Amino acid sequence: MKAISVTGIAWFIFVICVACADSTTPVYDNKVPVGEAATLAQRLLQLENEPQTWMTGGRDYQQSYYSPLQQINAANVDQLGYAWHYDLESEHGYEATPLVVDGVMYGSGPMGTAFALDARSGKELWSFTPEIDLSFVRKVCCGVVNRGVVLDGDRLFVGALDGYLYALDKADGTVLWRVDTFTDRERGYTITGAPYIANGLVIIGNSGAEFDARGYITAYDVRSGEQRWRFFTVPGDPRKGFEHPELEAAAATWDPESLWQVGLGGTVWDAMAYDPLLNLLYVGTGNAAPYPRKLRSPAGGDNLYLSSILALDPDNGKLRWHYQTTPGDNWDFTATQKMILADLDIAGATRKVLMQAPKNGFFYVLDRVTGELISAQPYANVTWASHVDMATGRPVETEQAEYFNAPKLIFPGPQGAHNWQPMSYSPSTGLVYIPVKEAGAIWTMPEEPFEYQKGGLNSHSLYVFPTPGEWGLDSPLAKTLPPLEELGAGQPDTTIRGVLRAWNPVTQKLAWERDTSGPWTGNMNAFWNGGGLMSTAGDLLFQGRGTGELVALEASTGKELHSIDVGLSMMAAPMSYAVDGVQYVAIITGIGGGNGNDYVPGMAAYTYGNKGRVVAFRLGGAEVPKRAQVERENAGLVEPAFARRGTAAQQELGARLFVRNCAKCHANIDGRGSGIPDLRLMSESTHREFAQILLEGTRAGRGMGNFADLLSSAEVEALHVYLIDEAWKLWEKQGEGTQWH
Ligand code: CA
Repeated sequence: MKAISVTGIAWFIFVICVACADSTTPVYDNKVPVGEAATLAQRLLQLENEPQTWMTGGRDYQQSYYSPLQQINAANVDQLGYAWHYDLESEHGYEATPLVVDGVMYGSGPMGTAFALDARSGKELWSFTPEIDLSFVRKVCCGVVNRGVVLDGDRLFVGALDGYLYALDKADGTVLWRVDTFTDRERGYTITGAPYIANGLVIIGNSGAEFDARGYITAYDVRSGEQRWRFFTVPGDPRKGFEHPELEAAAATWDPESLWQVGLGGTVWDAMAYDPLLNLLYVGTGNAAPYPRKLRSPAGGDNLYLSSILALDPDNGKLRWHYQTTPGDNWDFTATQKMILADLDIAGATRKVLMQAPKNGFFYVLDRVTGELISAQPYANVTWASHVDMATGRPVETEQAEYFNAPKLIFPGPQGAHNWQPMSYSPSTGLVYIPVKEAGAIWTMPEEPFEYQKGGLNSHSLYVFPTPGEWGLDSPLAKTLPPLEELGAGQPDTTIRGVLRAWNPVTQKLAWERDTSGPWTGNMNAFWNGGGLMSTAGDLLFQGRGTGELVALEASTGKELHSIDVGLSMMAAPMSYAVDGVQYVAIITGIGGGNGNDYVPGMAAYTYGNKGRVVAFRLGGAEVPKRAQVERENAGLVEPAFARRGTAAQQELGARLFVRNCAKCHANIDGRGSGIPDLRLMSESTHREFAQILLEGTRAGRGMGNFADLLSSAEVEALHVYLIDEAWKLWEKQGEGTQWH
């Protein structure tokens, strides 16, 4: 019942170069001056003159998540303590790293809220809450989160969950313009990613590859909001023609009878980067729906441009080169993970590189001028491919990779060996720091045939993590599969772990590693415990944890130097800035993101709740003031409020509907008090409201979407029948060793 589907297909590598000479002269010519301030690109090119600034999501245009400040350093970090905090309202989890520019901090939160604070004190300057069409709340795979803002001149940009891109006046949060970025509002599109700026344009993608999104990015003029170009990442039905020539080339890598009506995914839901010297925009693309390639594109093919890194000319939206990390993606192996640009000395030459650790488990170093693959090596357990062939640039798949005809244990699992949590590159140590998830998953196909569901989940694979418990190896799904001893024979250790790895990108070798599983080795909380990373010139590396600790390590050695009890669970990357000569470290707290997080004892969110908070730290700071402890609803197992009802046929239908529509969020828990409720523990009032919640969206504002367009009243009743039965089963099992908190 831990059933959830995941990914898609595609591949190829191809290096179409490019009349882009390796010039050191800025191509950016200030064509589009914005506001009173210098343009973003001009300022980013001189960022060494303002070490106090954190200008973009990853601080610089390289997206390195590295601060050159060193007032706080390895020798004194044990004196780092609380400076100020700013309380946020959402409990849905915060994934953004804030910016600090000219003494003001800018950040964002779930659904596209934004705020500006005085970076000295945390005092609010303004806050912004977009009006949201709540029908989009159910169209998220992994929470109604938001991954950040971008600033250009006098304006700040944020994407809202329901597809509107907002340009705000950075001085007061006033909306300067707003544009609808969606091509079809009935489909499973949402925005959870940050916008990026490239040469006077603001670029935004979207999420929804588990649903029926057809991926694309759109470029808008930063001043007017006028659309300049749109680049689709996968073709539509070739019989209807192509929006741009790159799609004709891509269509040759798809079965002409592919499931075009599903949209096919490839969404740009997280990382981009822009090199102002090369005037190239880098874009990471996601997986497809349905995940199984044999279903999606039966004749095979690489399925461009899924799971790819694209280099586009921002002036016209034309593709300059592309590299597909996972041809024929079958496993939700997105290439949307953060990309870091750097200059590395490799084999006697300085190379302008792009580095990415996508979900598929290989660490890639590409020449970012040409797209040439320089190196690729596994940074985690990888069994779907034996290696990347340097002659072709392609991964060499193993027999373990294909689960279409038989269940397989495959490393990495669909969460990836690395997900959206930012990695960091320190030019001081020359190392890339990666929050790694060591976990395989057992994949299989559903029994029922695929049926396209407009606006709904269309991933159509099932997987289960090899973890004990009724949502893992004791789940009904796992019981239909061969035992783990059989599936795991000859495979890597299946113990789920979180690991912080320091990776040398030149030698493609591990420098050091530290286990970050916390108390959860062996279950999914282990791989969600370690958040995004930030390194500094003070030989420091910072990471927030689900346990509520902000940990400072020595970046060169991995030695833990200091741990601050923040009292709130964290997953976003920290950042650092300085104002009035004082260096601060700051982070936005709040865990979640919909998939795999469980508020269990030991997790700060279990004790203090999960409302977000910006917390800043400085040398000589105090202890962090704690939030009040939460009264836990569902603190124990109680007898179900409703009697069993309905027929076996309703139960069976309800079970299938649960897997298809609910499990993605509600089945990630092993029966304990989670931020996303265990539906077997619904209160009497929730039971009474059950049909209205699903069919009228009465809890959409709290993150539980309206399913009226997907489910009939009869289907909602079948779901209810099933959940009531599950509640009774759980109740009847107590005393048989069911763990309860
Ligand atoms: Ca995905």
